[in-house]
Amino acid sequence: MKNETKKENDLMEKIVSLCKRRGFVFQGSEIYGGLGGTFDWGHFGLALKNNIKQSWWKKFVDSRRDMYGVDAAILMRQEVWQASGHVAGFADPMVECEKCKKRFRADQIEDKKKCADCGGKLSEARQFNMMFQTKVGASDDSSAVSYLRPETAQGMFVNFKNTVDAFHPKLPFGMAQIGKAFRNEITPRDFLFRQREFEQMEIEYFVRPADWEKYFEYWKGEMLSWMEEVGLDMSKVHELEIAKEDRAHYSSRTVDFEFDYSFGKKELFGLAYRTDFDLKNHGLEYIDEEEKIKMIPHVIEPTFGVDRAVLALLLSAYTEDEKGDEPRSYLKFKPNIAPVICAVSPLLKNKPELVEYANTKVFAPLKAEFGRVAWDDNGNIGKRYRRQDEIGTPWCIVVDFDTLNDDTVTVRDRDTGEQARIKVVDLQNYIKGKI
Ligand code: ATP
Repeated sequence: MKNETKKENDLMEKIVSLCKRRGFVFQGSEIYGGLGGTFDWGHFGLALKNNIKQSWWKKFVDSRRDMYGVDAAILMRQEVWQASGHVAGFADPMVECEKCKKRFRADQIEDKKKCADCGGKLSEARQFNMMFQTKVGASDDSSAVSYLRPETAQGMFVNFKNTVDAFHPKLPFGMAQIGKAFRNEITPRDFLFRQREFEQMEIEYFVRPADWEKYFEYWKGEMLSWMEEVGLDMSKVHELEIAKEDRAHYSSRTVDFEFDYSFGKKELFGLAYRTDFDLKNHGLEYIDEEEKIKMIPHVIEPTFGVDRAVLALLLSAYTEDEKGDEPRSYLKFKPNIAPVICAVSPLLKNKPELVEYANTKVFAPLKAEFGRVAWDDNGNIGKRYRRQDEIGTPWCIVVDFDTLNDDTVTVRDRDTGEQARIKVVDLQNYIKGKI
């Protein structure tokens, strides 16, 4: 058991260190000692995150007729959060150690009486509201209070009327948004899993009340199919029906999709039946032209955390093997989400004829076609392969002396390590065929 835990910790350490080394994710405010629960994204992490978001938007917005995108302001009037129930109820139980003053989430610790760090006595649990409060404008009175949004959902509910008035959608229809959310988590932990600033991709799907169960099942299927599309290890994804007492204040049914992270089976994404809770509290309604009645639609909410998606994908993709002359680690990303689709290298960087060919005849056209194409001429070819493996680049293309004679290049496959000789004119189709 102990060995298992060590292996799991080692895996997490390896992933955190790969993310830093290869420019995916850095600790927030690192040069000043770090700010707990915040991370900064480097070039490749950002590319991965953007690909995830694009794939989500394409599936759930662009390829549908019933979905309307929104990008609402993060700052909203305090009335929004009063109506949504977050001012009164968005809290976690917190205990404090009387000796070392460390704070813990009461529902996440085994011994509720004794501090796990110093053995000191823990206080009684009290509710801690997780919203970040701020003041808008120069005025200092309570009317200036605002909050950084703890979920993107309300940005859609407050634009429900605008969307209906602008687009006249028929039920069922949805609104979709990708954006930052902020929660002052008591104990941020497990790398990207529990942060204070993170990103969500959410859908509010409005249905006739009698149809909610049908659409709840439908969205469960849609969520699973997207998870498979982006390449999550589906053997690690599990559905969990959330008991009434553990559901959020707005939900009448919740199914969590849990993932086997290296630190345990925990929530990845969620699906909630929010009933008419939010629209009713905001005083919003809808005229059902088919039924000729005023009514309040019910809401099915599929919600996805971008950062947990990244973490679960890193854990799904991370692989170690013994191929070649030495052990290697690589990220087995699907090409549609890999930060780099292919890397182009001249065999030797001090041979101008190789560099010129690689640059103008291989790199430039591929870059124009695929965008996510890297130029890599650093170190020897073995080192370049290792680096690209760790970034998760599916193909490395090398221009060598034979290329100058026969216009073919070596294309090396990340997963098998196999190399094929491909004509330069066929490269784009070769890669397109594989995507
Ligand atoms: P948890 O129980 O783990 O605190 P939650 O049930 O409060 O999560 P939701 O309110 O359902 O989470 O948020 C929707 C999604 O946002 C989650 O499924 C998750 O992917 C993501 N998420 C929530 N809190 C965080 C966080 N602190 N850091 C990163 N992602 C988060």
